Amino acid sequence: MRRIYLDNHATTPVDPRVLEAMLPFFSEQFGNAASRSHSYGWDANNAVEQARVSVAKSIGAASSHSIVFTSGATESNNLALKGALEYYGDKGNHVITTAVEHKSVLDTVKRLGTRGCEVTVLGVDALGRVDPETVRQALTDKTVLVSVMLANNEVGTVQPIAEIGEILHERRVLFHVDAAQGLGKIDFDVEQMNVDLASLSAHKVYGPKGCGALYLSRKRPRVRVSPQLDGGGHERGMRSGTLNVPAIVGFGRACQLFSIEGLEEQTRIARLRDTLQSRLLEALPKVSVNGDPEHRLPGSLNMSFHHVEGEGLMLALKDIALSSGSACTSATLEPSYVLSAMGVDPTLAHSSIRFGIGRFNTEEEIDIVAERVISEVRRLRGMSPLWEMVEQGIDPASIRWATT
Ligand code: PMP
Repeated sequence: MRRIYLDNHATTPVDPRVLEAMLPFFSEQFGNAASRSHSYGWDANNAVEQARVSVAKSIGAASSHSIVFTSGATESNNLALKGALEYYGDKGNHVITTAVEHKSVLDTVKRLGTRGCEVTVLGVDALGRVDPETVRQALTDKTVLVSVMLANNEVGTVQPIAEIGEILHERRVLFHVDAAQGLGKIDFDVEQMNVDLASLSAHKVYGPKGCGALYLSRKRPRVRVSPQLDGGGHERGMRSGTLNVPAIVGFGRACQLFSIEGLEEQTRIARLRDTLQSRLLEALPKVSVNGDPEHRLPGSLNMSFHHVEGEGLMLALKDIALSSGSACTSATLEPSYVLSAMGVDPTLAHSSIRFGIGRFNTEEEIDIVAERVISEVRRLRGMSPLWEMVEQGIDPASIRWATT
């Protein structure tokens, strides 16, 4: 059975060019980047510093010294939020974020709440966007930091980062952006957008898993965070631990690649996404698109197939790697908190599927996926008495069921 990978929000395959760059650092160039007394260490350190330049350049950072390597965006989010609230404790204790952030932000602010911080979680509109004015209104003289993601991992909605950055720059409040999903896919320039801290992840941009970075601005004024890992003082004391040299080299190469491939690659991916969207909408009635059609990641498509159970559809499409709008690991099968925050009805949230298109998907694959989804949705609806009612013009929600 041929498998098709359409879950590029969860992770991406390592690009062969990235792997090629990494391989020597597992074998002949295995040195510890912190070893200063021999060439093994110097070579490893040079490679890390080159990668640091590539990562910094890819987000428009003026200096490579603004990059701290971490184990991924989860760690970067923790370091940014806990580290800044701890370091700037004298200034205040208020942190603002949004209801659609990744759990590594939401659970971190929850933890900060138990440590005496005041937390404001802002709502979003039906498209998943936060209104910059609500950010302005939530600011107090105790606000240390505002955290808003560049793009959402479930629906792909892109947030108005530049507008929020302008407000926060004016008010001298730190701006943290979780850029894990948006990096390499849409414009992201920390200087132009007045971003003070940014979390990045290598495995979302065809790099290796377990590697990421935190950008910390060195201007207006230099941003500091209290380290959350103490030890040998690596990464200028902000993140101790022997550097994962092969992964960092891979991350640097991955950033070079998306910087080169740029708009052309994203235009191709958006075209594949648009083809899939229009084929499904044309062939199937009662399908809605979740997210912001105007401000959306090029490879993102989140759809609700009314009267079809998302988990059931995914099972029927076992040969296609997809993700649904339910937290299927939880016993309660909770609907996605992102879709809930957007006001999507829980039943529809359970009918939602996330398609994530990436660098290695082809037109032929999109054709196969469109055909398979159309036929499985028709088959599942064909077995459903509720769907039969819908076809007869009866709204199942309007029925008063007789109870015994
Ligand atoms: N933030 C967002 C928006 C994400 O999508 C992810 C990955 N699912 C993360 C943070 C966590 O990244 P990592 O896997 O590198 O820890």
